[in-house]
Amino acid sequence: MARVQRIDLRGRVIERAKKRCEYCQLPDDDGWAIHEVDHVIARKHGGKTILSNLAYACIPCNRHKGTDISSIEPQTGQVIQLFNPRTQRWGTHFQLHPDGTITSRTAVGRVTALLLHFNDPIRMQIRADSIATGKLNPRTTLRANGQI
Ligand SMILES: [Zn+2]
Repeated sequence: MARVQRIDLRGRVIERAKKRCEYCQLPDDDGWAIHEVDHVIARKHGGKTILSNLAYACIPCNRHKGTDISSIEPQTGQVIQLFNPRTQRWGTHFQLHPDGTITSRTAVGRVTALLLHFNDPIRMQIRADSIATGKLNPRTTLRANGQI
């Protein structure tokens, strides 16, 4: 893919995500590093570098996710697909609280939050600070991400 096309694709991913990690909601201007473009379905599993397979992800989420597309739910031992921000709605699977904590509503939410370490203390504090300053609204966040 040509360099200009890659830059345009990255810009569209960032704009669609409203500059937040589409997994843990971390704003990219409050993090300690620039977010990355993630292949929701990794290339090794046949995922393509197209808008409908890309998500904006903070570095911790992207590193913890790696090329994984599923995980094992501790409560049941079942293999559960990870949250897909292109085909699933964030608010169906997660809830963001004013203290920066993210709780899970579904098995998809539980395995994703666990694998990607959503509630590590640093990211919880950044989300809490962003909520306190009005940059992140827990009520509107649920509809802001994950839909094309
Ligand atoms: Zn994240």
